[in-house]
Parts: sequence; C-alpha cells; structure tokens
Amino acid sequence: MSAHEVVLLLETDPQRGLSSTEANRRLERYGRNVLPAAGGGGVLRRILRQFHNPLIYVLIAASVVTVFLGEYVDSAVIFAVVLINAAIGYVQESRAEAALDSLRSMVRTEARVVRDGELRSISSDELVPGDLVRLEAGDKVPVDLRLVRLAELRIDESALTGESVPVDKLEAELPVGTPVADRRNMVWSGTLVAAGSGTGIAVATGAETELGQIHRLVGAAEVLATPLTRKLARFSKVLTVIILVLAAVTFAVGLLRGQDAVETFTATVALAVGAIPEGLPAAVTITLAIGVTRMARRRAVIRRLPAIETLGSTTLVCSDKTGTLTENQMTVRALWTPDGGYEVTGSGYRPEGEIRDDGRSSEALRWSLLAGAGCNDARIREQDGEWTLAGDPTEGAMLVVAAKAGIDQDELAADYPRRDTIPFDSTRQYMATLHDERVTRRTVVLAKGSVERIVSMCRAEMGADGALRPVRAEAALHAAEELAGRGLRVLATAVRPPDGADDGFDDSSLPGALVLTGLQAMLDPPRSAAAPAVRACHTAGIGVKMITGDHAATAGAIARQLGLLDEDRRDRVVTGTDLDGLPAEGFSDAVENAAVFARVSPAQKLRLVETLQRRGHVVAVTGDGVNDAPALRQANIGIAMARSGTEVAKEAADMVLTDDDFATIEAAVEEGRGVFDNITKFIVWTLPTNLGEGLVVLVAIVLGATLPLLPTQILWINMTTAVLLGLMLAFEPKEAGIMRRPPRDPGRPLLTAALMIRIVLVATLLVAGAWWIFQWEQSNGADVAQARTAALNLFVVVEMFYLFSCRSLTRSAWRIGFFTNRWLLLGVAAQALCQLAITYLPPMNDIFGTAPIGVEVWLRILAVGVVAALVVAVDKRLRRNLG
Ligand code: ADP
Ligand code: MG
Repeated sequence: MSAHEVVLLLETDPQRGLSSTEANRRLERYGRNVLPAAGGGGVLRRILRQFHNPLIYVLIAASVVTVFLGEYVDSAVIFAVVLINAAIGYVQESRAEAALDSLRSMVRTEARVVRDGELRSISSDELVPGDLVRLEAGDKVPVDLRLVRLAELRIDESALTGESVPVDKLEAELPVGTPVADRRNMVWSGTLVAAGSGTGIAVATGAETELGQIHRLVGAAEVLATPLTRKLARFSKVLTVIILVLAAVTFAVGLLRGQDAVETFTATVALAVGAIPEGLPAAVTITLAIGVTRMARRRAVIRRLPAIETLGSTTLVCSDKTGTLTENQMTVRALWTPDGGYEVTGSGYRPEGEIRDDGRSSEALRWSLLAGAGCNDARIREQDGEWTLAGDPTEGAMLVVAAKAGIDQDELAADYPRRDTIPFDSTRQYMATLHDERVTRRTVVLAKGSVERIVSMCRAEMGADGALRPVRAEAALHAAEELAGRGLRVLATAVRPPDGADDGFDDSSLPGALVLTGLQAMLDPPRSAAAPAVRACHTAGIGVKMITGDHAATAGAIARQLGLLDEDRRDRVVTGTDLDGLPAEGFSDAVENAAVFARVSPAQKLRLVETLQRRGHVVAVTGDGVNDAPALRQANIGIAMARSGTEVAKEAADMVLTDDDFATIEAAVEEGRGVFDNITKFIVWTLPTNLGEGLVVLVAIVLGATLPLLPTQILWINMTTAVLLGLMLAFEPKEAGIMRRPPRDPGRPLLTAALMIRIVLVATLLVAGAWWIFQWEQSNGADVAQARTAALNLFVVVEMFYLFSCRSLTRSAWRIGFFTNRWLLLGVAAQALCQLAITYLPPMNDIFGTAPIGVEVWLRILAVGVVAALVVAVDKRLRRNLG
C-alpha cells in the first residue's frame, strides 16, 4: 500500500498522529505492545532436566537394586531423596530464572511518538496500531512500521534475518506480493536503526509483529551458564566418572574376596553417593543469581550472566565522560560570536535567565541561537512547574538558551519548516537541517557540531551586522580552547544563509558552503559520586580511563576535577589525532600510560580497547552511541546507559546502568568480587565433606570393616547440610577490604594450593574423627547403630564449625561479625533441629538406622568440632603470616 492508503486504513494523521483519547481506546482494544511470555510448555522439560544427572542415575539404580535385595525402607529413602533433590533443583532453577526475568523489565524502552500533534517520549509498550513513531539512529524499532518519511534510514535487521549488513529503506509503494524480507518500505520490530532517521505508522504491535510470530515459534530460553558453571559442571562429571569406576572396582574386588554381596553393594553405593559433589553446580548458579539481584539493587543490570564473573577480574574501566562521569545536565553558560562573547545566566532546563549583551545587538548571535534551536530534535516542556527535556541534553541546552533570547521552538518550526536532515553521529561530528524560510520561500541550512568540524566546513563568518567576511578559523579555535579550559562543552553553530547558493544538501556539498555564526559553551558538572568512585577504583587496583568524543580541553578540565589527571606526573590528554600519528611501537605504551583520551572516534575507541586487552587487561567499557556497539562487544564487559544510551548500545552490552552513573560501575565490580568470593567459599566448604565421606567408606572397604556410615545416612548429610548450611554462604555479605585488594587474575585457578591443602586437612580431620568416635563408642559398650549415629553427628558438627570458618577465606572467623549473616544462623539452627530429630525420633531411627545417644557423646563430638575449628584457624593464621 502507499503510505497514504495506510494512513486512511488505520485512521491516523501523518503529521499529528493519533489523539491521546484514540490511543487509549486502541490500547484497550489491541493490548500492550509486549511479546507474550515464553515458557509454559517448558515446565515438564525443566522437571525432567532435574533427573538428568549422573548422581541421580546412581541413586535410581541403587533404589531398584535395594528393592530386589528386600531392603524396602532403604529403597524408599533413596527414592525419596531422588524426588526431593529434583524438587529442590526445580525450585532453585525457577527462582534463579525469575530473578533474571525481573531484570529485563527494569530497563524500560522509550519510544518517540507523535500524539495530538506533539512529539512525546512514552514507554514503548504503550504503542498502538496507527501511532506515528519517530526513529533515530541507535533506536531499537518498537513495533512494525510502514515508513512515511525518512532520511538516510538504514536498518540492521540481523535480529530477524541474521544478515548483518544494514538495509537501506525507502518510502515508495512496492508491488503486491513482495516477500516480507524485501518490503523495504517497512521496518520491523526488534531490528536496530543503524543510521539516519525516519517516521512510520505502526501497523502491528506485540505478538502481531513479525518478531512476535517468530517468538511464538521459538520461545526464548535463557540458559543460566557462565564459563565458571560450565567448568564446574565438567569437573563434577569427570569426578563422577572416576568415582563410579572406583566404586565398580571396589565392588568387584569385594566380591572376589568373597565378601557378602549385599554388604559390599551397600558400601559401594555409600562410596558413590558420598564422594560425588552433587550440590556444586546448583550452588554456584544460585550464588550467581543472588549476585545478579544484589547488583540490580545497586542499579547495575546484568544482561549476560558471565559478566558477573568477569566484573571481579576487571583491571581497567574505560568510561565515557558525558553522562557517566558528568551529570548530563547541560546549561549554556557562554556564547561567542566572531565579534565578541556573552555570558548567560540561569540554570537547568528552565528558560529563565538572560544573555548579558549590554544592549549590543548581533545578527551572528541571533543566527547562532536559531541554528542551535532549529537544528535540534529535542523538546523542552513545562509540566507541573517543572521543565523537562525529551531528547539529547546537549540539544536541550541549546533550546533553553534560545528561549532565553525569546526564540520559541514552535514558532521557529512554523517559520522555518524543516525539509531534510543530516543526523548527528559521533563519526560525522555535526548535524545539519534544511529549512524553508516561510516568508521568502528561500532555503536555509542550519548546522551545529564539534568546533573543529564545523569551522573546517565554513568559508565565511558572520559579523554583528550580519555581513559575511572570510572566516578566521584561528580566532574561533582559540576562543573554543579558552571556553573548554573552563570545563565547558563547546559546540559551534553555522548556517548557509537564505541568499547562499543552493548547491545540494549532503556530506559532500556542505563543506565550504557554511558560514560560522558562533560558539555555544555549556556546563555539565561532574557527578558528585564520580570522584570518590574513581578513587575507590584506584585503591582496588583498577585503572580508570576517560574516553570521550569531546574537546581535549573540556575533557582535561573535567578529568582534573575527578582526579584522573595528575599534574605532578605531567599527564596530558591524548587526542584521536595524536593516536593516529603515533608510530606502531609507541602506540601500546602511550595508550597504557594516558588516562584521558579526547576527540576519539568510535573506531579509535575500538582500537584502544583491543590494544589494552592485548596488554593483558580485563577491560570494562562504556558506550552510548550506535557506533559504540563494536567496542562494547569487544570489551570484556560492555556497559551501556539505560537513560542516555541508544538501544543499539544496550543490545550490545553485557551490563546496563539504570542510573548512568560511573559510581555504579564501581559498585558492580565490588559485587562481582563478592560473588566470586562466595562461590569459592562454598566450594572450599563442600569438598571436604565429599572427600571425607568417600575416604571413610573406602577405608572401611579396604579394611573389610563395618561401615561407620550407611548410604542413607550419607545421603542425609549431603542433602540437609548442602541446603541448610552451605547455601547460606551465598548470602554472606561482602568482606571488608574487598576493594582494597588487586583484581583477581582470571587465569588463576579457583582453588589455590593453600585452599586445596585446607580442604585435604579438613577431610582428614573428618575421617579421623569419625573413625575414632565410631570405634570409641563401640568399645565403650555402644551398639553399631549408636556408634554410627555418633559418627553421623560428628560429620555434621564439624561441618557447622567449619562453616563459620569458611565465612572468610583469609581472615579469622572471629573477626567477622557473628550476626552479619542471619540466614547462616537460621540454617545452623535448622540443621541442629534436624540432627536432634534423626537422633531421637523413633520413626527417623527406623528409617535411617540411627539410635539415641547420651550427652557425654555429644560432648566428645563437640570437642572434635572445636579441635577442627582451631586447626583451621591456625592454618589460616600461618597462611596470613606467610603470604
Ligand atoms: P561526547 O558526547 O562524549 O562529547 P560524541 O562522540 O557523542 O562524544 O560527540 C562528539 C562531539 O560532537 C561532541 O563533543 C560535540 O561537539 C558534538 N556533538 C555532540 N552531540 C551533538 C549533536 N546532537 N549535534 C551536533 N553535534 C553534537
Ligand atoms: Mg554524545
């Protein structure tokens, strides 16, 4: 259909859009513009997945065999464990996924829509069919649109087609029967605007979009996997195979030696069940999920799970200046024209204040303000006494200063209707618009951009009387340098006046045709939390570099306020031009040594990131524009800004900051380190149990002695302590001083030699303690059931003591506040109740083959626990003194 037919069909207006009342009516009728939640049918698959685990196979086999052996109670216990294990796994997996899901809704997508003839910014899920939607470079297309107007619009449709070369769009009518992929007058929901801008009419929303159709077919499934979880899963698998082989060999040897088949089988099962660290992968996933939630609370939303791990290893943060290190609250403070400068009063987006011109009137000033306000896609609006901005803060500031001089945005739009646009992008460094002058019907070009770029495109400059004369580039650049030295962000404005020759409107015809009208310098104060965050990073051994597209002097002034530039070290700002001029050998060192990079293009930014990575850095990089996507992808952690960033950048990022604040990056790194610590703590806590249980049984088999622990008792230990004790380490708060140590080397193994020694040490204590008490009780008149109960409780009590020690890997258990992890205390209390139950409740005694024991036995058990705690404390102390 032609655009006109679409307008008629959808009863909308290609200029004014829908009315708000009509939009509300349609929202009722068609529903919100969201994709239906995936899942539903996945429940069964998720349940089945819980059984797909080597340990479960062993258990199921064991429970079947025990039925044949006539041990019905044991068989039932083992089978119950299988079910409980699956249930726990299911609940934990669902909760972890729910945590990730809720993150998605934290980053809201805004859409620009024209309603009641006014450009508005609304949440994209409120769009309805018939809405007139504006697209700009960097947007993610929110609905399926039929284009009605466009300028150089190029769309990256790889999300739908897999083809990464952007597609040029057009407005024309296409033959009936054109396949979807070739309908170039349409843009599809979920694709990205690679360049240019355009306006279209929404023809499908939500599930009706092409993306919605595909989504229904595939049903998105997110996997909770990171390099670490995969590594651990592989580790457990290998370990399982080794243990199973070992168990099979033991069984065969036992039979050959003529031992009782049932007993040997029981022992073998106990060995397998005890030694396999089944809880490991799940515990790691849960710790990661808790970490994700904690980060979200501190306003860092993780989009890709592996980022949490990488965050803890970050050695370098490369940050944008505008909006991340600064407030992105721009106010024009000074203006400059070839015939003199002006100061401006007022602050924020409220258009109150004045341009101090002392009665001097200037045509150049008037045209500079017109260019700033006309070549502009932002809008300022008064709402309940508050002035708010929709759009780019740089542009907002230019609207405000024009308003202070009495130039109204709407009147300007009426007097100079816009015909065409060359949109801003960071590589081009300017924006230009083509207007008709309503009264004279002549055309005018308005332009603004970086000083260097605009000045280089000007052949003339305008005087106060409006007369043109050859441009004095030196004077303009010098003035810009001076303003930038005050920390102001400086943009230049230019026009092609109505009487200029109309020789086209594109990148190639504008240079040489423009007339410089002046400079506008705006203040963008550094964020108050940024300087402390930079210091915190430095203490934590993390370098901070500023990479900005802004002027070198502006960057330098802000960097100095943030403590990024050190005058004593004679640090200086390196510009993009400097970078290109560097010889290949010097490049890498120069990049390493400099802290501030200005006038850097996205391509140079990518090169910087690559260079730093080659030097062994783990680099976190922020980016906001369309062209930043490659650098974000290349980075170890790509970071996008929820408020000021484009959708393209968010899509490419691993993490999104909902408050755009640099300090949030530092917070996320801190959380990342905490997560890694807690994972390590869990592993260091859990492995001695498995090792100990395996050894206890192995020793019994080798000696041909009675088993100190039955398979069902081992299952009991593993099931209850993993959930009630071990998992509580995931809630462990970050240790003090976590940001005073250097970043973790990603190549370093999770378990250092010191930690391995500790694991073996604790396992040995467990084995020795269990054997000792098992023999002691028996030789003092206890029966086997009581002796086993003592050994069982000894295992759990030692694990409890050891749990407190594992709250810190290096510091002594006494130094951490006892009450700082309430979950852990609750878990220990619950575990104690469980132990009393299994020891004293007759039904539990029947099921698990346990028997009540006396108080003096408990004292012996506690003594062993205390000894174990002391040994670990001494080990820690020795390590600290050594290292
Ligand atoms: P940064 O925002 O960090 O300064 P960018 O790459 O976004 O870096 O912008 C580069 C330069 O282009 C800016 O310093 C400014 O001079 C100019 N510029 C920024 N935004 C606009 C815009 N909307 N229109 C025209 N020029 C702009
Ligand atoms: Mg910018």
